[in-house]
Amino acid sequence: MSQVKRVYTFGDKKAEGRADMKNLLGGKGANLAEMNLIGVPVPPGFTITTEVCAEFNKYGKSKVVELISKDVQAAVRNIEDIMGTKFGSDENPCLVSVRSGARASMPGMMDTVLNLGMNDNSVLGLIKRTGNERFAWDSYRRFVQMYGDVVLGMKPVSKEDTDPFEEIIEDLKAKKSVHHDNELSASDLKELVKLFKSAVKKQTGKDFPSDPWEQLWGAIWAVFNSWMNERAIYYRALNNIPEEWGTAVNVQAMVFGNMGNNSGTGVAFTRDAGTGENIFNGEYLIDAQGEDVVAGIRTPQQITREGSIRWAELAKISEEERASQFPSLEEIMPDVYNELFETQRKLERHYRDMQDLEFTIQDGKLWLLQTRNGKRTGAAMVKIAMDMLREEMIDETTVLRRCEPNKLDELLHPVFDREAIKRATVLAKGLPASPGAASGKIIFFADEVENYSSKGEKVILVRIETSPEDLKGMNLAQGILTARGGMTSHAAVVARGMGKCCVSGAGAVKINYKNRTMVCDGKTLSEGEWISLNGSTGEVYAGQIGTKDPEMSGDFGDLMKLADKYARLKVRTNADTPHDSVVARNFGAQGIGLCRTEHMFFEGDRIKPMREMILASDETGRRKALEKLLPIQRKDFEGIFEAMQGLPVTVRLLDPPLHEFVPHEKENQKEMATEMGISPEAVRQKVEDLVEMNPMLGHRGCRLGNTYPEITEMQARAIIEAALNLKKKGIEVLPEIMVPLIGTAREFELQEKIIRETAETVFEENGIRIDYLVGTMIEIPRAALMADQIAKSAEFFSFGTNDLTQMTFGYSRDDAGKFLPIYLQKGLLKNDPFQILDREGVGQLVDMGTKRGRTTRPNLKIGICGEHGGEPSSVEFCHIVGMNYVSCSPFRVPIARLAAAQAAINNA
Ligand code: PEP
Ligand code: MG
Repeated sequence: MSQVKRVYTFGDKKAEGRADMKNLLGGKGANLAEMNLIGVPVPPGFTITTEVCAEFNKYGKSKVVELISKDVQAAVRNIEDIMGTKFGSDENPCLVSVRSGARASMPGMMDTVLNLGMNDNSVLGLIKRTGNERFAWDSYRRFVQMYGDVVLGMKPVSKEDTDPFEEIIEDLKAKKSVHHDNELSASDLKELVKLFKSAVKKQTGKDFPSDPWEQLWGAIWAVFNSWMNERAIYYRALNNIPEEWGTAVNVQAMVFGNMGNNSGTGVAFTRDAGTGENIFNGEYLIDAQGEDVVAGIRTPQQITREGSIRWAELAKISEEERASQFPSLEEIMPDVYNELFETQRKLERHYRDMQDLEFTIQDGKLWLLQTRNGKRTGAAMVKIAMDMLREEMIDETTVLRRCEPNKLDELLHPVFDREAIKRATVLAKGLPASPGAASGKIIFFADEVENYSSKGEKVILVRIETSPEDLKGMNLAQGILTARGGMTSHAAVVARGMGKCCVSGAGAVKINYKNRTMVCDGKTLSEGEWISLNGSTGEVYAGQIGTKDPEMSGDFGDLMKLADKYARLKVRTNADTPHDSVVARNFGAQGIGLCRTEHMFFEGDRIKPMREMILASDETGRRKALEKLLPIQRKDFEGIFEAMQGLPVTVRLLDPPLHEFVPHEKENQKEMATEMGISPEAVRQKVEDLVEMNPMLGHRGCRLGNTYPEITEMQARAIIEAALNLKKKGIEVLPEIMVPLIGTAREFELQEKIIRETAETVFEENGIRIDYLVGTMIEIPRAALMADQIAKSAEFFSFGTNDLTQMTFGYSRDDAGKFLPIYLQKGLLKNDPFQILDREGVGQLVDMGTKRGRTTRPNLKIGICGEHGGEPSSVEFCHIVGMNYVSCSPFRVPIARLAAAQAAINNA
């Protein structure tokens, strides 16, 4: 046992541990060791291994003391030697921090204890060293408070209890008639130390330990005990972290940036986290503690001279004033700056990623407290990765793995001005249904949007929920806000398709159509007032906020090319118009995976023949109306086929319940009656007949085409004729005709028969032929189960995971918004299954459908066209089950391309 090394020291650019010893030293300990090894000045310290934690749990305290006390004493002496300090000294006291540190980061673990080593002697030493009595007593009282809470168990257990220390502070503040902690004087703080200690005595029955060694051992036991506390056990269970891992203990010398004008503290980035530019940058403050930089009490200064000059220009500060009042670190402490500059370069090269670092200068000596991979914007993410590839710091697969697909979104949509958004007021929060930023005047009725937009005014369409009738208004508005509906609600799906900003399901927004008002956060907003939406976060803001168009840099294009090099899955798009098709092709879509034909029926006057068809009392009446629809559909398809220039296009036959198309308002019913030469009462009656209890499970999908074959006939004719017309112009088209919502093989076969017969007739009429495919959506569980039968005739499958999720879970797509948020909050579900494909359940059906389909037809082309097709984890699943492509809304195409590359790399 004595052979085992249990305590690992680090400091003075030496370390006994290494980065790859995370299992033994924990993440934090390994990283502190590594920084020393590469020559970074880190406050010295030591790590007690995770194995000792296991020994502590097995054999208890006294055995562990026996095992490690010699090593701990030596390690503390090492800290004292490097820092020139002494535990408990009244001249130059050694103060340390004590932290836990497991292999994986565990937020449920012990809080940090700072300033350990403080007692009535060392406080005097600290006063001597800093000349700052207030600071020394404040450090002391914070230590007693932290140690009392964390180590001596004074922290309140229940929500109702108050922290005894906070109570004492409040009493003293009341006595002194001050409001804030920083108004307490040095002698007040000294008084607090006394009061805190007697509170400890009262509650624990023991004196507060004044011996630094006793303090240190107490803190070490507290870290080990925290491994078995309730929070940590819960966290481990949730994240599958084994109990035997244990935690390490990190003890490290404290350094102070507030020891006068030769000290300071700051934060820095090795590259610009906003733009990705390769320039070192950051802020610092002289004579300050870490939190002062972020607290905004004093104006932090720039680290580099170049940054300082740029900053002054923006802040409209003259060069004289800048140089005298706000000089850079580079100017006032050139040696420290040079060391910092070299250190940041070293850290970035070592970790091969942009670093976000914290440093402290104590008496002219630089110390690095932390380094980590820096958070960055989407634009910076792409630029930094591509720059580092060119600089040969990282390879292609690292570039692709490191770029987060969802963050690409920021590059594709307008964004709010970063400064303006900081001042904006949030009114409500809904679902981030479709990304982007939009400001406009509130309008409640879709048909009124045009009145404003035609005058060049910006509008946000605010609805309880949207329906297909609102399509035009949605298209003309800057953004859409709905109070109801989830991520696959009509508003969300349509807005994503349009690339339009949308916040859906903002339940806190109460809309009153009659008064034309919306109430949220206690404020009433009327029609015409400005609001702003952030479709990427779901936030709704009051007033107008400036937006700017993002720049599509060359790096973005290069990243996409790289993604395609590694991806196996193809990426198609869901598009219903030539415009969307062009947008998607520009984003790199390799075909259309879903063209929802019904969306075309709402534009302009088209709805009239559609309504006529639905309201007709017999087949003759329907055929008459369908004749009017045929040229319209044919023209639409020609436009889409042309836009896709020979790439495959999957056209889906009519799918939604018919009642979605019929006129619900009296006025529209009257108009239709005149159009059709029947009575308004007959129209009303027919509309009523179409009402269904469960329309999503009712007369829709292929059930329409099987009951009214003439609809399928017309649509098949429109598709084939459009393709032939283009062929005559020399443009190749590969239509893939898709039957929706089948549950039995027979349902498909009947539709296929109509399609193929119609195609033959059209070929004969025109004297030319084209190739085309007939396939089906798999979106009813039974279809997935019967896939081998269905694949006998279906030439391709496309998984409609919106409906498949709805029917597998039994959650209505339109109503799930009412309970899903609660389910997520209570942990009944990990994710919203309409957003992230449920691999466990729905995924089984997808996997089974794919396998069974291919037992019959080994080369069966398989894709997905539900909303999941653009969501990275779902894309990975599609890769794993062996699909050929995913299809998603145009603005998600780049995201899916990157996710497809990651899936290929991570599952190679
Ligand atoms: C689906 O159900 O996944 C699908 C793509 O079809 P829709 O959303 O139009 O029902
Ligand atoms: Mg569907």
